[in-house]
Amino acid sequence: MQQLQHIISATGQTAEQVMTQFAEDQKQSWPLAAANYTGLASVEEKQFNIGGFVVKVQFNPERIRSSAAKVDTASITARKCFLCDENRPVEQKAIGCGDRFQILVNPFPIFHRHFTVSSLAHTDQLFFENIAEMLQIAKKMEGFTVFYNGPECGASAPDHLHFQAGENGFMPVEAEFQTLVTDKNNLLFETGSTKIWAFENYLRRMISIETTDFEEAVQAIQFFTAKFHEFQPEKKEPMLNVLCYFSDAKWTVHLFPRKLHRPSQFFAEGEEQILLSPASVDFGGIFITPRKEDFDKITAADIADIFEQVTIGGQVFGQLTAAIKNEFQIKIQKP
Ligand SMILES: [Zn+2]
Repeated sequence: MQQLQHIISATGQTAEQVMTQFAEDQKQSWPLAAANYTGLASVEEKQFNIGGFVVKVQFNPERIRSSAAKVDTASITARKCFLCDENRPVEQKAIGCGDRFQILVNPFPIFHRHFTVSSLAHTDQLFFENIAEMLQIAKKMEGFTVFYNGPECGASAPDHLHFQAGENGFMPVEAEFQTLVTDKNNLLFETGSTKIWAFENYLRRMISIETTDFEEAVQAIQFFTAKFHEFQPEKKEPMLNVLCYFSDAKWTVHLFPRKLHRPSQFFAEGEEQILLSPASVDFGGIFITPRKEDFDKITAADIADIFEQVTIGGQVFGQLTAAIKNEFQIKIQKP
């Protein structure tokens, strides 16, 4: 398997160019990918402006597999893992991304270039242990946003460690973050190289980290994750969605702490049902509805209500942000 870094140095292309070519090649040689990426071009989208923030809704029937995925232990044990090499379609090629991960074209796209960055080993979806790896992948895949869905926060393979990635500039959160940071009241922590913000009133609650320093990024994300875990001690890991991108020599990381996997609308019946299972892309501002009736009927009030149900409560968020403000310190690494 060729490594992304080797292709970049051999061809003189950027990561974005290499990945775009990889996606194009897969469309040529893999009919399923070709059909679904072609279908994406005509996918219906609409847009809401809620309290000054944009949420887009995408009607994407192929995503029913993910939205309605059964992720309970019995169902997961009973199926063949679709990320393990022996079960993947023969047409699906891979590019190596470091020693432990490979990049695959996602055959059920939301983004125009949508990848799964999958662990070579079949091992549980876990965030804390893989924070440094996520930052490294984001740096290698500059031009794309790398995202993590926790095992109870939208990952359809909670038993096989993976990230996903899609092109920058697609999710509203990226541009809105640039506006949100102009209010300095949101700033929790600052060094010469790292800033941490908290956004309480952004439809969902979000902690954002911007840093040029890899080690400080790891420490900040680890601190947040460990602190948040104290509020959900019964869980294997705290409920999280994460977006991460590397651009202009700095990382931007958006952390979305959650309290619920799926909103009440998911389980409702008849008219009341909206089959929507929020994950990183939804928190990024793109709600994915696999059913046409849900796409047609969803309202701004539904979106605000779904966010409020699944995002962490204001009280816990306040305690988390206070901990970052009062307790977090960068530990200087002794050479
Ligand atoms: Zn697997």
